[in-house]
Amino acid sequence: MRIAHLRSRLQQLGAKPCHEDRLLRGWSQVCSYDRKGSPAATFFPAALRAELADIEAQLSGLARLHGEYPVDEEVARLLLRLADGQMVESVLLPRGGLCISTQVGCAVGCVFCMSGRAGLIRQLGSAEIVAQVVLARRRRKVEKVVFMGMGEPAHNLDNVLEAIDVLGTQGNIGHKNLVLSTVGDERVFERLPQGSVKPALALSLHSTDTTLRAKLLPNAPQISVEELVARCEEYARATGYPVQYQWTLIEGVNDGDAELTRIVELLSGKYAVMNFIPFNAVDGLEYRRPSDERIAFMVGTLKQQGILARIRDSAGQEVEGACGQLRARAENEKRR
Ligand code: SF4
Repeated sequence: MRIAHLRSRLQQLGAKPCHEDRLLRGWSQVCSYDRKGSPAATFFPAALRAELADIEAQLSGLARLHGEYPVDEEVARLLLRLADGQMVESVLLPRGGLCISTQVGCAVGCVFCMSGRAGLIRQLGSAEIVAQVVLARRRRKVEKVVFMGMGEPAHNLDNVLEAIDVLGTQGNIGHKNLVLSTVGDERVFERLPQGSVKPALALSLHSTDTTLRAKLLPNAPQISVEELVARCEEYARATGYPVQYQWTLIEGVNDGDAELTRIVELLSGKYAVMNFIPFNAVDGLEYRRPSDERIAFMVGTLKQQGILARIRDSAGQEVEGACGQLRARAENEKRR
């Protein structure tokens, strides 16, 4: 379901924009529709009130919890079942963060990622994207949403931007706390600046060598690394939020000194943060994460050169839950 379809249904029941917004606010913030001096019981048109329970049931059924895999007190992987039985993953992150999925499967096919191995299965509707936030908020506070779970947001941009709009206007999430992650796609650079809610941008870089990058991200758009950084920098300067560069660190693949030198050349003076994510073990893949010493050296070198850099663990290694693995295992169990 798309938010646009929900709005049409509400309009057919006599809703005006203020009614639609109040319903979306109540749903996305998991709070009452009532407002001081104006309870929903009298505020919504009668036809909408008559259908409200049905609409709420439909919204609740968009994503249900199938399994929860805690990592520590603050981090947990959630496996969610959608209305048609498909499954996606969300991750509760520290400090009120939440990582959500935008597609079932993914067409980019990054060689280090489980989500991309089965290809794209289907798009998530914008309401299914928001429903992941609603489900997480029923468990705890959510103040930051990163679109870095299963799927490439650029391949489902209409739904992703619709969800971002709702979360930023009705869902009480600061615009810079909505982070859209992409492998780099012309459509993202064109459309993000046009939205009334402008999210922060994360770019999955993984290598400074355009040829190697094309091997690691086989179905990403063929845009040179230099061009990607230039487009990201333009957006960062326009919005005032630094771009977060994502870099899955793989031993012997993209953790060498030549990469470090090129990162310094590319990102010096840029409004940017480098997030190194040590590779998570993925069933059937030979890759390994670099040693802790090597990772610390890479971060330290960038910092010495004035580039903000940090280590981000892809939450869930402890439950063998690298992106897409929970879903893959649940699907295997279904087939048995
Ligand atoms: Fe898709 Fe992201 Fe996995 Fe790449 S890392 S295959 S873009 S989900």
